[in-house]
Amino acid sequence: MNSLHARHRSVLPDWLALYYDDPIEITHGEGRYVWDADGRRYLDFFGGILTTMTAHALPEVTKAVAEQAGRIVHSSTLYLNRPMVELAERIATLSGIPDARVFFTTSGTEANDAALLLATTYRRSNQILAMRNSYHGRSFSTVGVTGNRTWSPTGLSPLQTLYVHGAVRSRGPFAGLTDERFTEAAVADLEDLLGQTRSGVAALIAEPVQGVGGFTSPPDGLYAAFRRVLDRHGILWISDEVQTGWGRTGDHFWGWQAHAQAGPPDLLTFAKGIGNGMAIGGVVARAEIMNCLDANSISTFGGSPVTMAAGLANLGYLLDHDLQGNARRVGGLLIERLRAAAAGVDTVREVRGRGLMIGIELADPVTGRAAPEAASAVLEAAREGGLLIGKGGGHDTSALRVAPPLSLTVAEAEEGAAILEQALRSL
Ligand code: PLP
Repeated sequence: MNSLHARHRSVLPDWLALYYDDPIEITHGEGRYVWDADGRRYLDFFGGILTTMTAHALPEVTKAVAEQAGRIVHSSTLYLNRPMVELAERIATLSGIPDARVFFTTSGTEANDAALLLATTYRRSNQILAMRNSYHGRSFSTVGVTGNRTWSPTGLSPLQTLYVHGAVRSRGPFAGLTDERFTEAAVADLEDLLGQTRSGVAALIAEPVQGVGGFTSPPDGLYAAFRRVLDRHGILWISDEVQTGWGRTGDHFWGWQAHAQAGPPDLLTFAKGIGNGMAIGGVVARAEIMNCLDANSISTFGGSPVTMAAGLANLGYLLDHDLQGNARRVGGLLIERLRAAAAGVDTVREVRGRGLMIGIELADPVTGRAAPEAASAVLEAAREGGLLIGKGGGHDTSALRVAPPLSLTVAEAEEGAAILEQALRSL
């Protein structure tokens, strides 16, 4: 539990398990804004949790949901429904994976769970490589590949996981190296690790830009370099695109494309933004891998027509309006503005990011240690100023996370940056 919002303590229900001790009660949203139960308006710089990809209450999505709900709400993956077929076709084509098959789930955790089940079944091994500082979900298998002990109090896991260096630039053994030297060092480390491991590792699971870990990314091309090693060992590559998909990183539609020499991953998982808040997750894989699921390719709520209709309308909107281009342009302005806002604030170690996925890493200026209290204080001050942001980081990092809906305007970017500047300067 995290103490953050003091105002609604009196109405906080004891019977709910929640992340924050005192979350605000959101009643409605429009565009990039949401309102709380007291009628206060907030600029949403976290887009739900990167779930509101286009905008809150986007009329196109609302209409598609209402129309579909009036026809039929549910059919399960036992039957076909047209929005599911169309969305699967669009995602399969967009994924870049040859001979792709799509399996729908209802969350990112379940998507990664399915990907791990596929990879371990296909390779007949429960050994997995995962990146340090990663986050892949909160089920028994996905906490087992999450490189941050906060999420797994016991550390028990059905998988044997080996953690790999390379996702974090600002600290760790390769901090300060040039892109080229960093990549060489990470590859050598991976080779060394595999040399000490019994053979038969099933897959590497990795986020192209780490989300919960604080929006940190390796040098472009790192996963291409890793892939050459993985291929030699017959190890699959699962790209967890739960946060990085759909153009959020600006330059690319998928995060893996920053490592394009690697070609598409063997498996790709998605969730969050595709439904603009509706519960959609899924995994894309080559047919020969997907076919391993066999009787397991069933989900009661996966592929539900209402969520699929939302996904189709949302995807259509973001492609038609080039929101990836908007993320690149407005994200580029916003990161520069936030760098200026953070200049001279000695608790800020780094402002980094891609597109509309911007992380502000905080550290104690004297000890260099993570500063989670400072992160909570900035979140609270921003909220008081009318701005919602997120936080993240590993067990030894703390970062603020900025990830507004991709339709953010320049004026809204400026408005949010000004509030965040004030919040940072109040430290
Ligand atoms: N993978 C990544 C990269 C995520 O950031 C998350 C959630 O934050 C998940 C998986 C889990 O998704 P969900 O919360 O929808 O289960």
